[in-house]
Amino acid sequence: MKQGIHPKYYQAKVTCNCGNTFTTGSTRPEIHVETCSKCHPFYTGQQRVASAKGRIERFNKKYGNLSENK
Ligand SMILES: [Zn+2]
Repeated sequence: MKQGIHPKYYQAKVTCNCGNTFTTGSTRPEIHVETCSKCHPFYTGQQRVASAKGRIERFNKKYGNLSENK
């Protein structure tokens, strides 16, 4: 294995926009992210499901009748 071609591997401190911090393996010593497992809608649950459902209902209300009227 050649020396010098592999980036240094850090236990990176990740700082999220929500204020949460955690560490992860990375080639950078510090990382700033906009979403993390604490605040990402996928992990916080309901909110995203509700808004996605709302979008689908709005879409159907707007365009759903087009195919039904054929
Ligand atoms: Zn976060």
